Amino acid sequence: MKQLDDILNYCNELAFDLNFTKAKEWKADAKDRMLVGYLPIYFPREITYAANGLAVGIMGAGDHKQIIKGDAYYQSYICHLPRGIIEMALDSSLAEFDGFIFPAICDCVRNLSGMFKLADKGKFQRYFDYPQNFDKLIGGVFYRQELEKFMDDAYKVNGVKVTTDKLNHAITLYNTNRKLIEDIYNIRQEFPWRLSAVETYKVLRAGLVIPVEKHNEILEDVIDLISDERGEPMDNIRVVISGSFCEQPPIGLIKSIEMAGCYIVDDDLMLGSRWIQGNVDDTTNDPIGALVNAFLTKSTFSSAVYDVGNPKGKRLVKLVKKRKADGVIFSAASFCDPALLDRPELMKDCDKAGIPHINFQFHENTGQFKVIKEQAGTFSDSIKLWA
Ligand code: SF4
Repeated sequence: MKQLDDILNYCNELAFDLNFTKAKEWKADAKDRMLVGYLPIYFPREITYAANGLAVGIMGAGDHKQIIKGDAYYQSYICHLPRGIIEMALDSSLAEFDGFIFPAICDCVRNLSGMFKLADKGKFQRYFDYPQNFDKLIGGVFYRQELEKFMDDAYKVNGVKVTTDKLNHAITLYNTNRKLIEDIYNIRQEFPWRLSAVETYKVLRAGLVIPVEKHNEILEDVIDLISDERGEPMDNIRVVISGSFCEQPPIGLIKSIEMAGCYIVDDDLMLGSRWIQGNVDDTTNDPIGALVNAFLTKSTFSSAVYDVGNPKGKRLVKLVKKRKADGVIFSAASFCDPALLDRPELMKDCDKAGIPHINFQFHENTGQFKVIKEQAGTFSDSIKLWA
């Protein structure tokens, strides 16, 4: 068995390697392989796997890269994520990628897909729309067509056909992946000191750049290691982080919240890896239908998805109760339209349920955490003293 520190160091390397070295090595190891970069939040990676590809999550440049050209491409009053990604593309960090998926989430990502097209990055650049109607015969048919368009794109790259067997096998692997991640969250719910939120984040993010089988091995090792006692319980409050589903906060920010006396017992960082709640059917003759059905009926909640009949605020309150959290920290990227538009409604639901909350905004390359640490520390103290 490996040591946890070794695993975490390895995950750290993978998670923040903006050259995607391991993914590129994987591609170079055999012919007919392809790399498909996808942006937040969610993309059904199973299909890429079945097409002999690796879906690689591109979560922005964070605070690991100086942005110069990216700033020239965008006006000042939008979030930071697209600037970092265009900078990476123009610097050839994404050179060996065969195609890119831009999940429909906001206008910034839509425009970024156009920029990739104009700059001729990859062999395809697909703006990938998701249904906002959850009727099988409307949203379901639409989503299937979107998936088929992607399969055509992928086929044109390497000529590999997605078969039922291959797709069912991929679904099995990703079902395992989600289950293992959920196991880690469940252990952390009881014993949050055994694996910090920063460590959890690195372990999950590493999975965006390596084959799912390899990530499953890492997750299994981590579960084994944190099933035994590790670390010291602290007198911390328990919080859920909401609003960081796309642009990712810098590690220093997550660490500041923890150091301010908060156990982060759930969050929407790396939400795409946890998007489908539960298993996708991996035994059917129509695995595309199974993926469609899973999206329609088992998606988690997010500001990127319309929530008719199943409001996000109620789901957030339910999550807070499930995790036995004391409060919510609304942490959104500056200028993130979806997160900031939803925030007042989510706050109202928290108020109605008597759940305390605070909020702030960040950039992926925010360098000053003092104010956030003080705010989170005061939140923690006030809950400990008066809640
Ligand atoms: S952080 Fe928000 S506004 Fe920016 S690209 Fe993501 S969803 Fe869009």
